[in-house]
Amino acid sequence: EETLEELQNKIRWDEAGLVPAIVQDITTKDVLMMAYMNKESLKLSIESGETWFWSRSRNELWHKGATSSNTQRIGSLSYDCDGDTLLLQVQPQGPACHTGEQTCFFNDVPLEKNEDLTSTSYQDGGRFAVLAELEQIISAREKERPEGAYTTYLFEKGVDKILKKVGEEASETIIAAKNKDNAELRLEISDLIYHLLVLLEERKLPLDEIMAELSLRSERPRRD
Ligand code: AMP
Ligand code: ZN
Ligand code: ZN
Ligand code: ZN
Repeated sequence: EETLEELQNKIRWDEAGLVPAIVQDITTKDVLMMAYMNKESLKLSIESGETWFWSRSRNELWHKGATSSNTQRIGSLSYDCDGDTLLLQVQPQGPACHTGEQTCFFNDVPLEKNEDLTSTSYQDGGRFAVLAELEQIISAREKERPEGAYTTYLFEKGVDKILKKVGEEASETIIAAKNKDNAELRLEISDLIYHLLVLLEERKLPLDEIMAELSLRSERPRRD
């Protein structure tokens, strides 16, 4: 355990004794705001579990939300490689911005040359958001049973058919891996994951519960 003084010594405070602190929503990963901290506000943040900054305009310690009640509960605090920036992951109790916006970063600047990256940046920002999207599609297929859809066919056949497919795709995954054929492995693992998602829908087990279980394991690594 690092003492507060040891931590304070690792931070590269600027000439005014301040360090920029980026505030991020711990759930949505949205960047909410940037403000400055001094040693005292860092101490208060750590002790209270809520964000405290140094207001450069008012020249005073600033408990975020003191007047608006939009406080921020701190879930994690880290500093970057060279100690000149803090990152706070928080659970906001209301809009972070004094304008009432959720995040201070609502001023979009048009770029002259920007690619459409929407397909790679899903709403929850995660690389695996495509799984959530697939879960949604499978759930809709289960409810609507559109004719001719393979997913409809699986649900009509029932759980035994789905389990058989999971087994087959697992075997095909093993064969592709043994053949050191990554092009094939890519397809087979995709087949396997799709059929596992169909199984989850059939069993009414939300993918979120799997994610929560995996997340617990990475917090406390298991040996198996
Ligand atoms: P609050 O801390 O939310 O009670 O707001 C108190 C005052 O701090 C506001 O009136 C603003 O002047 C300022 N303020 C609040 N939030 C922000 C922010 N995200 N960025 C800059 N100034 C802010
Ligand atoms: Zn840095
Ligand atoms: Zn703002
Ligand atoms: Zn296959």
